[in-house]
Amino acid sequence: MLQLHDLTFIPFISSAEIEESIKKLAQKISVDYKEKIPVFLGVLNGAYQFTAALTQFYPGDCEVEFTKLKSYEGTSSTGTIQSLIGVDNLKGKDVIVVEDIVDTGNTISEIIKILEKEAVASYKIATLCYKPVAYKKSHKIDYIGLEIPNKFIVGYGLDYDGLGRNLPEIYQLK
Ligand code: 5GP
Ligand code: MG
Repeated sequence: MLQLHDLTFIPFISSAEIEESIKKLAQKISVDYKEKIPVFLGVLNGAYQFTAALTQFYPGDCEVEFTKLKSYEGTSSTGTIQSLIGVDNLKGKDVIVVEDIVDTGNTISEIIKILEKEAVASYKIATLCYKPVAYKKSHKIDYIGLEIPNKFIVGYGLDYDGLGRNLPEIYQLK
């Protein structure tokens, strides 16, 4: 059992299982990128652990970059505008976006929209966790570590109100 703020969580996915799924992904990606040097673009903060592990297990040359999605209010009626910090040096590169979790898909759609303006050579999406039941977009998620039910999880980079990111395993809400 794990207590974070007001919520209780129970163990869900062990660190051994997480590691196994990441090793498989790294292997699979390296086959697809045999002739290329991919840039793994980790989305902070949530994907920091996944990005570290995925690139450590990656059996080939690769580059590692990080980005952060910044939301701010528009000046007109456009509502919330998103921008990505640190993606201005990706021109002509083969980018693999590394996400902690894809839920509804809204975040990844925003990221794709922005990447398409950056003149990258290609891009694919890798996520550690994917909630197929919650996903509302049509864009294909290229590399999935773990498919999970529509439950709130923490650990291995994922937080609940700032806490839980550092945990080496994944917990689900009790
Ligand atoms: P989406 O935009 O796909 O709905 O959700 C993406 C973001 O919502 C993730 O990057 C993550 O920050 C947050 N999120 C979605 N599901 C979970 C979850 O089960 N646990 C945690 N901690 N965050 C989640
Ligand atoms: Mg995220």
